[in-house]
Amino acid sequence: MVTGATGFIGSHTCVELLDHGYQVVVVDDFSNSSPQVVSRIQRLAGRFLDAVYKVDVRDRRALSSVFDRHRVDAVVHFAAKKAVGESVRLPVEYYDVNVGGTTALLATMHEHGVRRLVFSSSCSIYGDVDTSPLTEQDPARPSNPYAASKWTCEQMLADVCRCRPDYTVLSLRYFNPVGAHPSGLLGEAPLGEPDNLMPYLAQVAAGRRERLRVFGSDYATADGTGVRDYIHVMDVAEAHRIALEHLGDSTGLRVFNLGVGSGTSVFELLTAFGEVSGKTIPYEVVDRRPGDVTELVADPSAVTREWGWRASRDLAAMCRDAWRFQRLNPTGYAAG
Ligand code: UDP
Repeated sequence: MVTGATGFIGSHTCVELLDHGYQVVVVDDFSNSSPQVVSRIQRLAGRFLDAVYKVDVRDRRALSSVFDRHRVDAVVHFAAKKAVGESVRLPVEYYDVNVGGTTALLATMHEHGVRRLVFSSSCSIYGDVDTSPLTEQDPARPSNPYAASKWTCEQMLADVCRCRPDYTVLSLRYFNPVGAHPSGLLGEAPLGEPDNLMPYLAQVAAGRRERLRVFGSDYATADGTGVRDYIHVMDVAEAHRIALEHLGDSTGLRVFNLGVGSGTSVFELLTAFGEVSGKTIPYEVVDRRPGDVTELVADPSAVTREWGWRASRDLAAMCRDAWRFQRLNPTGYAAG
């Protein structure tokens, strides 16, 4: 079962899973995606998803009836709200969807004897750190409601695994997934104004938005703008398939960073995107965004050590693929 399967990371992961012979049952409320994504996933994979349910993960009764109908072996849980800026405006909503959704899912899994979960966590749980790069052992100090909701889920999962030794949970702490499927059929297509940098950049380059607002150039970084570890969504999707293959290695909770291990500033990404797209990207520097931190860069070596896997796509590929998706889908999935 894949929850949030038509979202940005979920959709790419579904293609990867179908490509590797998995049978996939989808649970999604389509609140920040489009049913169009279902046909695109199937078209790319050349195979059908087993079933698609329009269900809010907080709706235990509906979720339970999906578990009744399918023999679920493992759950990959993407369904969540994911924007730092929005979480500062809507903190209760973030706890409700992210924590409430995970609680409902765990309770329903338990009732149906499902004990294996891959959880979408986030590098934002590390908070405003002085450490770079970050290992999984660095302390969590979430500095906004989005990060706090993900950290709350991780703590809950740790407790579940401590109290019930038959559970196997992998929590993958994504750094900043960007890019798109190289076909241009799947990508990041938020409804409304994008909160995240890469889709915003793509829309400015395409002339859909006037200029990028750079949130602060007074950070303690080389050029003053925020630094993140951008990772290609195809690498993130691949990591989920590999995670499923390693779920059986041991029981309990295991946590892994998913990043490339190097940092890119807002200005550096803007320049890289400009080069790839051949566009001049207008921007203005504005105030820092509430909840933002200076720098988040992964030490991704644990996942390489454990699974012999590392992210392989570079920043140019991330920009190229995001730009292709933007050009082929100027209004996202809306008209597609
Ligand atoms: N950012 C920006 N303008 C935007 C969106 C983001 O300058 O319109 C900056 C943000 O302050 C951060 C980086 O880009 O330093 C990545 O932000 P994003 O929202 O993509 O991911 P986050 O790290 O917040 O999850």
